[in-house]
Amino acid sequence: MTIKTVGILGAGTMGNGIAQAVAVAGLDAIMVDISESALQAGVCSVGESLDKLVAKGKLDASEARVALTRIRTTTDYGSLASADIVIEAVTENVDTKLGLLRKIEAVVRTDAVIATNTSSISITALGAALSDATRFIGMHFFNPVPLLPLVEIIRGLQTSEETIENVRELAIKLNKSPIVVKNSPGFVVNRILVPMINEAFFVLAEGVASAEEIDAGMRLGANHPIGPLALADLIGLDVCLAVLDVFARDFGDPKYRACPLLREMVSAGNLGRKTGKGIYTYS
Ligand code: NAD
Repeated sequence: MTIKTVGILGAGTMGNGIAQAVAVAGLDAIMVDISESALQAGVCSVGESLDKLVAKGKLDASEARVALTRIRTTTDYGSLASADIVIEAVTENVDTKLGLLRKIEAVVRTDAVIATNTSSISITALGAALSDATRFIGMHFFNPVPLLPLVEIIRGLQTSEETIENVRELAIKLNKSPIVVKNSPGFVVNRILVPMINEAFFVLAEGVASAEEIDAGMRLGANHPIGPLALADLIGLDVCLAVLDVFARDFGDPKYRACPLLREMVSAGNLGRKTGKGIYTYS
């Protein structure tokens, strides 16, 4: 299948980033959210991100203008009927996603691909909600979408080879580097990354070193572009904790036990950059 039109559910951080990548690649995007204000905020973010790319000389001003015109916004799910693929990128809540996926299946063409950008929910379990799970797949983008090249393509138990090929081709068209992985908690990147962040919290809690020293250690000694604690602030401490709790439950292995300091900070509402305070303080 040649994918020309991409439906995106959710105009938040990931949804608008995916819409931007689609539009810059010359494809049409239909971005759906529950409110006009969420859609406007999403388009505004895309505009700002495109402006930054132009200012850095990474994109032509005329290309940026044309890209913006390729993103159509609506609160009407019925508009997804013309999409070749729909990528769901709404809030990480299993019931919300299950309800929406059934709604999408009812409006899209029978040959359209249905994908989810979930970071932690089982692709096989979500697919089981659809009457045809062979066309359902995980397409996990990374934040910020316009800058990070990876897309994890996650194969659920029932996903067909044709669906995998269609999504792999789309990822390449979006100028991304896809890897195809099996459904498993956290897939590949979060499975490795989030336990490392958790370990950094244990090291901090035990007083082995300060936050600055831990982050400097991993930047300068392990060649990471950002330290694990600064990265936790960027991702959101609540997101890190939620992912660890999924690992602890689904693997049943105590090695995934969340550090009590991480849990305590989430309880206090110190979630990182988005609340102005996490491990570090942001103005
Ligand atoms: P977000 O909170 O920024 O955006 C979610 C959007 O979904 C909001 O605009 C909200 O209005 C919309 N929404 C909620 N219910 C809806 C519905 N019923 N119909 C249409 N729209 C609805 O969240 P996000 O960070 O963009 O995350 C979206 C998904 O991407 C989640 O599954 C998350 O796990 C995943 N993800 C997030 C990141 C990240 O770093 N933020 C990275 C990879 C994957």
